[in-house]
Amino acid sequence: MRIEQDIKLDFKDVLIRPKRSTLTSRSEVDISRDYVFPHSRKNYHGIPIIAANMDTTGTFGMARALARHELSVALHKHYGEAELLDFFAAPPAGGATFYSMGITAPDFEKFRRVMEKTGGMIGNVCVDVANGYTKAFIRFIHKIRTGFPSITLMAGNVVTGEMTEELILDGVDIVKVGIGPGSVCTTRKVAGVGYPQLSAIIECADAAHGLRGLICADGGCTSPGDLAKAFGAGADFVMLGGMLAGHDECDSEIVEIGGRRKMRFYGMSSRQAMDRYAGGVAGYRASEGREVLLDCRGPVEDTLREILGGVRSACTYVGARKLKELSKRTTFVRVTQQSNEVFGTAWANGYNDE
Ligand code: 5GP
Repeated sequence: MRIEQDIKLDFKDVLIRPKRSTLTSRSEVDISRDYVFPHSRKNYHGIPIIAANMDTTGTFGMARALARHELSVALHKHYGEAELLDFFAAPPAGGATFYSMGITAPDFEKFRRVMEKTGGMIGNVCVDVANGYTKAFIRFIHKIRTGFPSITLMAGNVVTGEMTEELILDGVDIVKVGIGPGSVCTTRKVAGVGYPQLSAIIECADAAHGLRGLICADGGCTSPGDLAKAFGAGADFVMLGGMLAGHDECDSEIVEIGGRRKMRFYGMSSRQAMDRYAGGVAGYRASEGREVLLDCRGPVEDTLREILGGVRSACTYVGARKLKELSKRTTFVRVTQQSNEVFGTAWANGYNDE
C-alpha cells in the first residue's frame, strides 16, 4: 500500500483568477478550435463540446441540434443498424458525430457492417469502457486502429498521464479522461475508485500534448464555469451528460410528479440501464450509476446559449481572444468549498436529486 500525498483537485476546489485584458466584449471571443488529429490526420473545426454517449443525451436529435452550433455528439451504442444507416446516410453538417461502441466481438462486427453498408461514411469513433486500464481494451484499440486506419478514434476512460501516453502511442487520437466524476456515476461510492477531475485533466492533457495527442474531459461539469475550468486545465474537448439532459432532444421517459413533468436520467452502468439493455444487473457485479429525475427544460438551444456564453465570459476575464489561449492564460486559485458554492451551485434549475 502507498499513499500519494500530492493534493489532487476537482472543479469545485478552484476558481480562475481574472487577468488584465484588452477585450471589451464577449462577442470578440472565438470559442471554436481547429485540430489535426495525430493518427487519422483529419482536420477538425468546431466548438469542442461533445454530448455524452448516454442513451438519453447521445441521440440523433441532439446531434442535429448541436451540429447547428458546431458542437459534437457521441451517439449512444444502443441504436440498431437500420437506424444508424438512415442517420449516416445524411449526417448533420457541423461538429462531429462519433459512433460509439464497447470492446466486445459483436460491437466490432456491428461497426464493421455499418461501416461497410454506409460506404465508410463514419469518420469518428468513440470506444468507451468504464476502465481503460485493461489489456483487453488495449488489444481492441490495436484491432480497430489496424482495421480502420483513417478513422478519428476517441477512447477511454483513463485518468493518468502514463495511460494517456500509452493510448496515444497505440493509435488513439483523443483520450477520454474521467473515472468517477459523472453526475449519475456512483463508482467513487461503490468501488472507492476515482481521481479528482481537474487534476486528471491537467495531468492527462500534459501527457497527451507532449505526443501531439488530444484529450476529452468527460464528466463532472455541472455549470458553464466548470467547462471553462476544464478548458483552462488543458482539455481539448469537454463531454457533457447531465448538463444536456432533460431537454426535448433527449430520448428520456417523461413522468409526472406533483403536477410537474420530469425526465428520467440514469447512468449507463445503473440498474435502470442494465435492466433495459442487459436483462438486469449480472450476479457478479454492482450497479455503478444512479437515476435522477430532472425538470423538463425545453429545447437544448437556450442551455447551449448559457454554456457558450459562460465559456466566452471566462475567456474575456483572462484576456483570451480565442479558446486556444484560455489554458495559457489560466491561473487557478485554490478556494474553500464554501467560497465556490457562492459562485457555482444550482446553475441548472431543476438539476437536483429527487
Ligand atoms: P456528467 O456530464 O453527467 O457529469 O458525466 C457524463 C459521463 O458520466 C459520461 O460521459 C460517462 O463517462 C459517465 N457515466 C455515465 N453513466 C455512468 C454510470 O452509470 N457509471 C459511471 N461510473 N459513469 C457513468
